[in-house]
Amino acid sequence: MENEASAIALEAHELTKIYRMGAVEVHALRGVDVEFRESELVVLLGPSGSGKSTLLNILGGLDTPTRGTVMFRGQPLRMDSERALNLYRRDHVGFVFQFYNLIPSLTARENVSLVTEIARNPMSPVEALSIVGLGDRLDHFPAQLSGGEQQRVAIARAIAKRPDLLLCDEPTGALDSKTGILVLEAILKINRELGTTTALITHNAVIAEIANRVLYFADGRIVEMRQNAVQRAPGELAW
Ligand code: ADP
Ligand code: MG
Repeated sequence: MENEASAIALEAHELTKIYRMGAVEVHALRGVDVEFRESELVVLLGPSGSGKSTLLNILGGLDTPTRGTVMFRGQPLRMDSERALNLYRRDHVGFVFQFYNLIPSLTARENVSLVTEIARNPMSPVEALSIVGLGDRLDHFPAQLSGGEQQRVAIARAIAKRPDLLLCDEPTGALDSKTGILVLEAILKINRELGTTTALITHNAVIAEIANRVLYFADGRIVEMRQNAVQRAPGELAW
């Protein structure tokens, strides 16, 4: 993994995103340049409305920029092709959101199976759920699981296709610190053991301590970057 750490997994150049609502323009991104190295864990930190989610959605092929480019392993994403974006998302990207969006009528195992059935090189749902520490909750329904457990099912669902990129948008935003720590530990384990390049959005500066690198957002720009000399374990965070 040390050797791979120097290669660039994902990069964006001069990303601009303008939302137009009638006569009103919202400049969500104002020319963002960013690189993510293979196996890196990067936290995107900044106040609400600073453009973090917009950037993550564009990096993951869920949204397209007004201007600028995204390159995955040196290849430009074809933003004009819905099919190319679909394949990119399917084969390379796992998303985790604040709200888990599990299907209530399906068990944990069945929720993860929805993804493994269409993925190219999936792990088994049992393996994915075991990685996030839910090997003993396979046949539980979402309503029988705590919020933190449901989020870990969502993480298992995101990683079961063995994505190259794990993009997490406020994954602990709906959780108390105790369950949030377990969710962060699952994400850190995936990053370390599977080597999945990970970007994690938070507005909680304490959470940034688990990252290799922190990008600070303000008003549609990355205004500062910090390399963490020490990566803290989630359990050590004073949260
Ligand atoms: P963050 O994730 O940092 O809170 P966002 O990327 O969600 O920030 O939003 C950046 C800016 O873009 C905000 O002003 C927000 O209101 C605006 N915005 C985000 N999504 C949309 C949308 N679909 N339509 C219009 N404006 C949007
Ligand atoms: Mg957001």
